[in-house]
Amino acid sequence: MAELSGRLLRERVTVDKMIELYCHENHAPQGGLCAECAGLSEYAHQRLEKCVFGAEKPTCANCPVHCYRPEMRANIRAVMRYSGPRMLLHHPVLALRHLLDGRDTAPELERRGDVEEN
Ligand SMILES: [Zn+2]
Repeated sequence: MAELSGRLLRERVTVDKMIELYCHENHAPQGGLCAECAGLSEYAHQRLEKCVFGAEKPTCANCPVHCYRPEMRANIRAVMRYSGPRMLLHHPVLALRHLLDGRDTAPELERRGDVEEN
């Protein structure tokens, strides 16, 4: 697994917490994540590692590059919609930092047209 640091690492921790929260309260598996959410978590990690913005990454909600496959995108949106507001309650520090990160917009990307779609 690639080394993530700073904001990317924080994004990964944040997305994991959101998936965890969503899975526990909606799918209630016996410990850990259900297979579907484990797959989503894995996929989210890969996307972060391959993010074209690297350390300059905006939060995903602000990102102009839609790098998720459509079905994964639908899944992660459901997770965010459910867990986003609840993060303030369960993980206030992470949620706050994520909100602060969300004030930055994406840096200009050179036009490259080779952004991976899956
Ligand atoms: Zn689940």
